Parts: sequence; structure tokens; C-alpha cells
Amino acid sequence: MSYSVELDFRSDTVTQPCAEMREAMANAPVGDDVYGDDPTVLELEHYVAETLGKESALFVSSGTQSNLLAILSHCERGDEYICSQYAHLYKYEAGGAAVLGSVQPQPMLANADGTLDLDAAERLIKPDDMHFARTRLLCIENTIGGIPLPLEYEQQLRAFKQSTGLALHLDGARIANAAVYHGCSLKDLVEVFDSVSICLSKGLGAPIGSILVGRSDLIAKARRWRKMLGGGWRQAGVLAAAARIAFDRRDSLAQDHARAQELAERLSSLDFISVDQSLVKTNMVFAQIDCDHDALKAELSKHGISLSLGKPTRLVVHRHISQKSIDTLIAVLSTVK
Ligand SMILES: *Cc1c(COP(=O)(O)O)cnc(C)c1O
Repeated sequence: MSYSVELDFRSDTVTQPCAEMREAMANAPVGDDVYGDDPTVLELEHYVAETLGKESALFVSSGTQSNLLAILSHCERGDEYICSQYAHLYKYEAGGAAVLGSVQPQPMLANADGTLDLDAAERLIKPDDMHFARTRLLCIENTIGGIPLPLEYEQQLRAFKQSTGLALHLDGARIANAAVYHGCSLKDLVEVFDSVSICLSKGLGAPIGSILVGRSDLIAKARRWRKMLGGGWRQAGVLAAAARIAFDRRDSLAQDHARAQELAERLSSLDFISVDQSLVKTNMVFAQIDCDHDALKAELSKHGISLSLGKPTRLVVHRHISQKSIDTLIAVLSTVK
């Protein structure tokens, strides 16, 4: 059977633009965004900045670019940032800040709930001494591995910021999932951060785009870096029109979360699969699938099912995963062992 997005559990990045997005894209008023002339981009940037309670925003091509621009704007050559050793911006972004910005990472172990021990982070801050890189920034990720950080963590971050003077960046690729989980506003979740990156192209369903928000002077620096990196784009309103619809659709993530719960329960009912259901908080399920993965892969592909089999296997629920998708997956898995 051929590929079907309804049976693609690999990631929420596989989501496709809906009819409403495609229509908005076709009709979007556009201009040259490098000149600051694209009304649809400007409106999106304005709207997202205001919704997050920040001064300014920059619409960019990807979450990787957005995080990179944030680090380059907070740090100078020879500076460093502290982050989790599992942080996407450290582990999965090709070392961009080191390669392109001469900014070194100082990774540290994370707690099981995804938080960083901020006392330990403080001890990693290097003294002002010519032997050391200058520690400038702490990067936090929320959600991380599908887990929303606890609301109380914000107070600890606030105290950390006050006592250390470091800037705080949030890789909030899936911060909308965290807001839905906690039932709070995005603004409340991001208040303590100096910059925030949000992916619009994951569970929110835009075809392309992330957005970086923060103080106006920081975003102005990021805009300059974006141009240098070849990320200045022209009639990008075509993409911003879809991104705006995605951003306004945040509440619909609740359905993905409910389906992820159901998926976790039903996977657990199969005797060769185990899932720690206490770790299923948003749209991700991590399953240990104990069988021959090559044989399983062949069987799944016969039915058009896409999974990233691994140890563990991550299954991601998104807007194209319906009740029927889950029924089909469970039915096929039930036949393999
Ligand atoms: C996906 C992701 C990114 C990067 O986004 P891309 O658009 O794929 O470059 C950054 N951080 C986190 C936590 C992500 O999940």
C-alpha cells in the first residue's frame, strides 16, 4: 500500500496544510519581506509577539534557524550557553551555534521530568577569567520528549535569572502543547524568557515556519543574522497566511493529547509492547516494541503504516491521526506476534 499521512506516526511534522490554509495562501496579500513590506508577515509577527507578551517577533523558515538566531543574538564569539544534553538545539541541530557563531555549548544532565537542576546549572557558570568562555545564556526546552515542564519551574527560573544575570531562551517548538496541557495561556508560560522559538509546522499544521519572539533589540539582531545566513525571504506572506491559521488552532491540540492517551493504553494491551503511560502527557508515546523490527517494518509498510522503529519507538499523534488510524495500527500490530 502507498503512503498515507493518516497512518504516519513518525512525527507531527508530517501534517499537511488544510483547505483553509491553501485558500488563505492563495489569497494572501504579499510584499518583499526583506524590505519589511509583506503585510501578511508583519501581521503574523505582530500578532504572535502580542499574544506572547513580547515586543517583537521574526517569522523564519525552521525551528533550527530560529534557535540558531536566538543563540547568535544573545551570545558573541567566545561565549557559551548552558542546556540539557538532550536539548534539540544542542543535539539535533548539527552544532550550528558552534560552527557558525563560535559559541560553545555547556551541556548538562537533565532530571527525569525534563527540567535542569538550576543549582547545578549555576555551578557550571564559569568565572570571569581569560581561561574560560563567557557563560551568557541558559536554554530550556518545553515540551521535551513530549513532557511539559511543571508550572512551578518558572519561579526557579526567575530566581536563577535574578541571581546569575544570564539570559533565558526557550526552545518552545511545542510550547502550545504545554499550554494546552496546563490549561494556561502561552503568555504566562513564556513570561520569564528573554526569547522564545515556536514551531508552527509541527502539531499546529503549517506547511513551513517557526517564529522567534523577544525584545525589539534582540529581534533586530536576529533579523540581521537571518539575512547573513541566507534566510531573508521575499513574498513570505504566502507562508505566513498558513502559519497564522496554524497558530490560532492551538486548542485543537487537546484532541491529539487525548488520542495519544488512548494509543498508549491500547499499545500497552499488546503483550510484546510496553509503554510507561505516566510519561504520556501531550502528543507523544514512547513504546518498547519487543519483536523483530525488520519483519515488523515489512508488515507495517504493507498496510501503509509509517513508524520510526527504535529503542524506544516514538509514536506521535497529530491532526491526521484519527480513531480509525489507531484502530488500524493496533489491528496490524495484533497480527504480528
Ligand atoms: C523540531 C524541533 C526543532 C527544530 O525545528 P525544525 O523546524 O525541524 O528545524 C527545535 N526544537 C525542538 C524541540 C523541536 O522538536
